[in-house]
Amino acid sequence: MTIFSKIVSGEIPCNKVLENEDFLAFHDINPKAPIHILIIPKREYKNFQEVDPKIMADMTIFIHQVAKLLGLDEGGYRLITNNGEDGGQEVMHLHFHLLGGAKLSWSHLSDSDSKNFI
Ligand code: AMP
Repeated sequence: MTIFSKIVSGEIPCNKVLENEDFLAFHDINPKAPIHILIIPKREYKNFQEVDPKIMADMTIFIHQVAKLLGLDEGGYRLITNNGEDGGQEVMHLHFHLLGGAKLSWSHLSDSDSKNFI
């Protein structure tokens, strides 16, 4: 059972933003932006590569709702999912990072740096 499944079951507390039958959104414990939310399916999928594509439509609707609730839908936000070891994934339970509340930089992924990542 992943730490996020323990959050879903209530075994571990979270700072909840929004929840429905299938999905949960809560604040990241170690925020990388003024607003940093994690959005997960309650059912455990290892990561994006392993997810049933059919649930992504409903997950997209839920992510839109979270962005709107937090007032990020107009000004914008960044949505990231780290996939697998090379993608920097630490918790093996599919999650999207929703980052916003500031103009976010993209310096670590700029063209001049790209040679360092291939
Ligand atoms: P990733 O590296 O994409 O797997 O991201 C895992 C994220 O989970 C990190 O940003 C952590 O700060 C976050 N995290 C780990 N444990 C908790 C927790 N108990 N509550 C909220 N966020 C957590």
